[in-house]
Amino acid sequence: MKIDEVYLARLRSAMVEQQIALRGVRDQRVLDAIRKVPRHMFVPPEFVPEAYNDYPLPVGKGQTISQPYIVAQMTELLELKREERVLEIGTGSGYQAAILSLLCAEVFTVEFVEELARTATERLKELGYRNIHVRAGDGYDGWPDEAPFEGIVVTAATPIVPEPLKAQLAASGRLVVPVGSEFGDQTLTLYRRQGREFKAVPIEPVRFVPLRGKVEKNDE
Ligand code: SAH
Repeated sequence: MKIDEVYLARLRSAMVEQQIALRGVRDQRVLDAIRKVPRHMFVPPEFVPEAYNDYPLPVGKGQTISQPYIVAQMTELLELKREERVLEIGTGSGYQAAILSLLCAEVFTVEFVEELARTATERLKELGYRNIHVRAGDGYDGWPDEAPFEGIVVTAATPIVPEPLKAQLAASGRLVVPVGSEFGDQTLTLYRRQGREFKAVPIEPVRFVPLRGKVEKNDE
């Protein structure tokens, strides 16, 4: 089925107004970025008709592309102004990375599932995003060679915030992460770094797939 681009752009616009702006996301730059990125190019072909609906969608390998509103909210919490270097853990489809790339200088994103890292890399290249660097690996370790980051966003739930991520956050940086377990409660949490201190602000209940790898052995 071929759905025309004008129609999709209209759906995208409606998504921004009804699902995102009306729920309280105010940052115009974030809203504009979401208006620009063709979310339907980040979902499997059979889900294109649902790409602008108000829920997460499967992207293969048991993983999901987050609900549009959640992507917007996490992005807004990073308070990006343009010059930042941002680390994302959990590339998935590459959609969140694409949004971030329009709002900061450089995006570094780590994906645990190699095949997802590969398809996201190709997709982002094809769509012309030049300031996104994708790597396959365990995001628990962050990306030490490129640290520090003014913003870090983790798009999988974790019972604890990995120490390497905290260590790689710049002074006054923001770290946004769903804290909680796979089947228990999860709270989207904003950590602000103030020197050696991290001030945690709970934002709202969320539901994410779990962060895998090292953190699973490390969470007692
Ligand atoms: N941000 C994505 C959605 C991510 S879903 C998007 O915009 O599409 C969560 C992703 O985190 C999945 O792709 C999953 O494979 C990945 N993931 C899980 N554990 C990880 C880890 N330890 N390091 C990096 N990525 C991880």
